[in-house]
Amino acid sequence: MIDLNTLTAREVRDRVVAGDVSAREVAEAAFGRIEAVDASVHAFLELTPEIAYEAAGRIDAAVAAGEPVGPLAGVPVALKDNMNLVGTHTTAGSKILGPYRSVYDCTAARRLLDAGGMLVGKCNLDEFAFGSSTENSAYGPTHNPWDLSRVPGGSSGGSAAAVSAGMAAIALGSDTGGSIRQPGALTGTVALKPTYGRVSRYGVIAFGSSLDQIGPFGKSVEDCALALEAIAGKDPLDATSAAEPVRSYAAGLGEGVEGLRVGIVSDLLDVEGCAPEVRAAFYAAAETFASLGAEVGEVRLPTARHGLAAYYIIGPAEASSNLARFDGIRYGHRAADATDVLDLYTRSRAEGFGPETIRRVMLGTYALSAGYYDAYYGQAQKARTRIIDDYRAAFEHFDVLITPTAPSVAFKLGEKADDPYAMYLSDVYTIPVNLAGVCAVSVPCALDEASGLPIGLQITGDYFDEATILRAAAAIEAERALDLTPPLVTELLDAQAAEAGMAAQRDAALRAEG
Ligand code: GLN
Repeated sequence: MIDLNTLTAREVRDRVVAGDVSAREVAEAAFGRIEAVDASVHAFLELTPEIAYEAAGRIDAAVAAGEPVGPLAGVPVALKDNMNLVGTHTTAGSKILGPYRSVYDCTAARRLLDAGGMLVGKCNLDEFAFGSSTENSAYGPTHNPWDLSRVPGGSSGGSAAAVSAGMAAIALGSDTGGSIRQPGALTGTVALKPTYGRVSRYGVIAFGSSLDQIGPFGKSVEDCALALEAIAGKDPLDATSAAEPVRSYAAGLGEGVEGLRVGIVSDLLDVEGCAPEVRAAFYAAAETFASLGAEVGEVRLPTARHGLAAYYIIGPAEASSNLARFDGIRYGHRAADATDVLDLYTRSRAEGFGPETIRRVMLGTYALSAGYYDAYYGQAQKARTRIIDDYRAAFEHFDVLITPTAPSVAFKLGEKADDPYAMYLSDVYTIPVNLAGVCAVSVPCALDEASGLPIGLQITGDYFDEATILRAAAAIEAERALDLTPPLVTELLDAQAAEAGMAAQRDAALRAEG
């Protein structure tokens, strides 16, 4: 049996291609693990064994026939449930899309499967990706595999938890203000937000169209690089996808950081609420870069700290416009007994949307309304331009910029659920990156001594320079060599094995009697 926590996606693929293990056996291992773990974690909203086993059959037949297979052949993959795929539900974590079934494919998802990924299921998320803890899902929260009383981060918490617990080797998330990187940090996974436009957004349920970007979670930097290679590139179905050539992101990962100019974003390290263990792990990582020959210095991004304020105007403004299509007529839930069409809209939306979604729609509608537009939306756009200018200036002197990914380790379920402002602060390091549109990766850089929980380092790169941030992340990964299997997952698997052993004994005893 293969262990999906110790093997990376690349190793799984190599074994499948070599014929050491069949894709079918890999799929069985993934579903066995989901059975052992997911009742506790709740990473998945839907399992897709038919899709996975159909892919496994095709891959095994190709391997047997000596035909070429894709770069992710036989790798169990998962999708955030805001990505459309024919044959699946796509709820976006919302009740309003409960009855909806996808009628078309998200390009990035399709490309991941075309590369040989075997889809095991669709993952939980904060409703419409509004949140940082996955507690805003209409289908109940996801639990952090490192400690079930804690959140996995969000909004792509289900995808992060699935990879962290080895239920999938690669998962896709979407990141509008940190929703890939922050759950990556909280679950000890590698998590990449590519440059805006690097990956097609076609088929992902839109949140903030000028900010949204799809990216991968993996157990290793190399896995994220391979996944990016599979999903990146121009898509005629998304006008904002870039024609910039797709590089071989996995090549050159081991080249080290000698001479790399690494900037510590000192302005952001002064923000209130950064936990001492996070700060310590961050500075230790900066020292590691220096010891590996990088030129580490301080860089100023003076306007970045205003990112949060600008984001909570621009994000909700775009979201309120994108969510107008959920009117009870075209998609999903429709209120019964409406008296007229306005009543139908109002009731369908009131019944279908959860509290955070309603908050975002109201914030956005207010910010865009006549008389307030210039004061809020206009000002936020000006701040965004200043932030972009700051990043451009920083990249004239530095190759990568570093901050913590999130200000704390995973927090307790419920801890921030009633305090939206405290929740919004979770993204203080990640949000400026989306406003600027540059790329960033979160890589595990330490396990907190007191809690044992993972801490992430965010490495930000210039437009379309994913190769450099991945190379820097690979240096930290190699230097730290952390054991990133959540201890709980090992316990749950042992319990499953013990139970299977007991059942086998019982069967043997019954046979002996019979
Ligand atoms: N946590 C942020 C928010 O609530 C970011 C979410 C995201 O990136 N989708 O908006």
